Amino acid sequence: MKTAFTDLDELLAFLELDKNRLNLPIGNSDPFSLRVPRGFVALMKPGDPNDPLLLQVLPSGREAIAQPGFNNNPVGDLESQSVPGILHKYHGRALILASGACAVHCRYCFRRHYPYHGGTASPRQWQDILGYLKADPSIREVILSGGDPLMLQDERLAEWFANLAGIPHLQRLRLHTRLPVVLPERITPHLIELLSGLALPTVVVLHVNHPNELSPALTSATRKMHRNNITLLNQAVLLKDVNDSRETLTTLSEKLFAAGILPYYLHLLDRVQGSAHFEVPEPEARKLYRALLAKLPGYLVPKLVKEITGQTSKTPLGIS
Ligand SMILES: *Cc1c(COP(=O)(O)O)cnc(C)c1O
Ligand code: SF4
Repeated sequence: MKTAFTDLDELLAFLELDKNRLNLPIGNSDPFSLRVPRGFVALMKPGDPNDPLLLQVLPSGREAIAQPGFNNNPVGDLESQSVPGILHKYHGRALILASGACAVHCRYCFRRHYPYHGGTASPRQWQDILGYLKADPSIREVILSGGDPLMLQDERLAEWFANLAGIPHLQRLRLHTRLPVVLPERITPHLIELLSGLALPTVVVLHVNHPNELSPALTSATRKMHRNNITLLNQAVLLKDVNDSRETLTTLSEKLFAAGILPYYLHLLDRVQGSAHFEVPEPEARKLYRALLAKLPGYLVPKLVKEITGQTSKTPLGIS
C-alpha cells in the first residue's frame, strides 16, 4: 500500500508516457485521487496510453464534463442506509460498508462521490450494525463490502466474523473485494486460514474486468482459496475501450475459470458523474451478451445486469 503510485507524473514516467499526449484533468482538486499499487501497474504495457488496465485508473479530463443522467448518487445508496454503515436494499442480504478505503481508485467507481467520511465503522457503529442484523431474522446473508473490506487488518476481520457468527439466522457470509486483484500479496496463508475456518459458508466476490488482471500471482492466490473451500465469484463492469469486446470477455471468463473463479455479474456502468466516457450503450451490451452465449458454456456467461434504484434486485437484461 505504501509503495502504490499516487503521483501522476511518477506513474507516467514509469510507464514512459508523454503527459502532453494525454487528456488529463486540469488542476489537482479531485479528492478521488490517483491510487494504484505497483503490482497492478506492472501488468500494464509501457508506452501504451490505451492499455485497458491503465484506462481504469488514469484520471481523465473527460471526468469534469457534466453529462445528463450522470450524478453523485446513481443507485440510491444515500437513501438506503438503514443505520449508518449498512445498506439493506434486497431481501435476505444486508451489505456492510466495512471500510471506506480501497487499494486502488477506479475511475468509473459508483462510490467515488460517496461520503464515507474516510476510515472504517467506529466500534459504536459496529454495535448499531450488529443490533440491526440481530433484530431482523429475514437477513440470511451479510456482505462485507466498502470501499474494500480487505483493507481491514486480519484481526479486525476476525472480530467481524466472530460477531456475525453469533447471529443465529445468518447462513452465509460474503466479501466483495477488488483488493486481491491489485495486491495479491494480501491473500496470505493466515487470511486463507481465517476465511476457510469460518462457521458460515463463505463466498468471495472478486472484481476483475480484464483478462490481463489475472496475473500468475493472483491466479495462484485464488487457486489456493478455491482449494480451501472458499467459493469464488467474479463481478465485472462493462467498460468502453477496456473490456467491451467479445474476445476480451470470452478470454476473461475462461481465465477466471482456470483460476477457480466463476463469472457472476457483468454490470452495466452505474451512471455516476464523471464516468460517462466508460459507458457502453445498452443495445451494444445486449449484443455482446448474445455473442458470449454463442461462444461459451452457460456457466461461464456472467449475468448481464443493471442496477435500477428502487428495484428488489439487480435487473437482468435479456438478449432482445
Ligand atoms: C448488489 C447488492 C447486493 C448483492 O446483490 P446480489 O444480487 O445478491 O449479488 C446486496 N446489497 C446491496 C446494497 C447491493 O447493492
Ligand atoms: S469500491 Fe471497488 S470499484 Fe470502487 S474504487 Fe474501490 S476497488 Fe475500485
